[in-house]
Amino acid sequence: MLIGGELVESESRRRFDVVNPADECVIGSAPHGSASDIDDAVQAAQQAQPAWAALGVAGRTAHLHDISRRLAVRAQELLEVEVMDTGNTIARMKADVAKSIEVFEYFAGLGYELKGHSVPSSPGNLHFSMREPYGVVGGIAPFNHPILFAAMRMAAPLMAGNTVVIKPSEQSPLSTSILAEICAEALPAGVANIVSGFGAEAGDALVRHPMVKRIAFTGSVPTGLMIQRSAAEVSVKHVSVELGGKNPMIVFPDFDVQRAVAMAINGMNFAWAGQSCGSTSRIFVHDTLYDRFVALLQERVAAIRLGSPMDERSEMGPVNSSQHYRKVLDYVDIAHTDGARLLHGGKRPEGTVFERGYWIEPTVFVDVTHTMRIAQEEVFGPIMSVLRWSSMDDMIQMVNGTGLGLTASILTKDLNTAFTTARRVQSGYVWINGCSAHFRGTGFGGFKNSGVGREEGLEELLSYTEEKTYHVFLE
Ligand code: NAD
Repeated sequence: MLIGGELVESESRRRFDVVNPADECVIGSAPHGSASDIDDAVQAAQQAQPAWAALGVAGRTAHLHDISRRLAVRAQELLEVEVMDTGNTIARMKADVAKSIEVFEYFAGLGYELKGHSVPSSPGNLHFSMREPYGVVGGIAPFNHPILFAAMRMAAPLMAGNTVVIKPSEQSPLSTSILAEICAEALPAGVANIVSGFGAEAGDALVRHPMVKRIAFTGSVPTGLMIQRSAAEVSVKHVSVELGGKNPMIVFPDFDVQRAVAMAINGMNFAWAGQSCGSTSRIFVHDTLYDRFVALLQERVAAIRLGSPMDERSEMGPVNSSQHYRKVLDYVDIAHTDGARLLHGGKRPEGTVFERGYWIEPTVFVDVTHTMRIAQEEVFGPIMSVLRWSSMDDMIQMVNGTGLGLTASILTKDLNTAFTTARRVQSGYVWINGCSAHFRGTGFGGFKNSGVGREEGLEELLSYTEEKTYHVFLE
């Protein structure tokens, strides 16, 4: 862990094992951080913050560029650790490491946008605002993109003049410890602190710490709600939450079936075993294409190459942990009980390579109806649900008929149809004739229970500041 510029064990000196989900081998361990480690980290951050803010934009920018350069030097090591720790395939994980390097560059470049504004509110006087950092920001990350989310939790708040305490997921903490080593070299002591540990202990202590007014959380809806409650029990805090999705992909009758099937597979993020918040796990296919779509989908999903996540040719790895493995298989049972038809998968793949590890075949249920649990609840695993539609109004009602609203994908050649549908969809991030990709500078975040706040753009940077308004009375 990194506390006050030192790489340290937890106070209790306890550690927990880290397991490779592809073969269940223990590949490392991480310090078991507790509330007292969190307190040390917050105190160190609090002490370091005034000098960090006083460096100004240019000074902080130089440090962010330095972190980025050091990450690039250790990119291959980060990639290999990340693949072994998460089970995500190496071919796709390269982009995560590249984006982690780039996010420090991006926010470094935005420093001079930390602007207030002036208002001609009364004649002769001055009315203007300036932005100030909150102080210490707490960042809590999920298991699926560990280095990327740790980098994201750090870059914007640091640029805004805050210091940070980051808690990675206990499921995949190893790459963040490399980031800790880099920050120990690149930043003044206490500016970035990293405490590994479990959610209910270290995570909760960070949320409840009275010196932490700003918390940025990425994870599941139940944890997000818990964090909002815990924060509110202590004091008034600014809590942003990036949560789950049950995201629709809508296929219109004018769209090419082959392309639609390719998009459905890509949008489901099978390379992450479906473990991506933006995965389009509900595919709404128009009646006129449905049978052709299903036949082709069966063929294409069967061709997905499962294999060692370290093999460049692998297109899908295991799910991340034993608990998650059981959760995903429970949803397979639930789907059967609810009457969905299994098109492909639903079990551990055959072969000696897959005997150990948390492997589940890419799974597709068809003839899913809107009220079934696999059409309503986020599985966060490799399970795709295909639903049939014919009436536009009924389809929109189904699309919007869950408590979540993160992403949506609309596939049609008709621009008018695309835009009118996009306007009616209750999601924060809409792709038209695309899926899956994020674009730097455009705000990512959810409607409804998928979250509060927008990330990946200027709004995220500004969200780590408070505005102070000044009124100057001139004689
Ligand atoms: P999770 O909610 O189980 O855990 C996320 C983090 O919260 C972990 O670091 C965990 O230790 C911590 N935590 C758990 N309980 C806590 C508590 N009481 N107080 C403070 N911290 C606590 O989520 P996960 O399983 O790691 O990640 C999967 C979820 O994250 C999915 O729902 C997915 O959709 C969501 N997600 C959302 C986005 C997004 O940008 N919207 C991105 C990635 C993942």
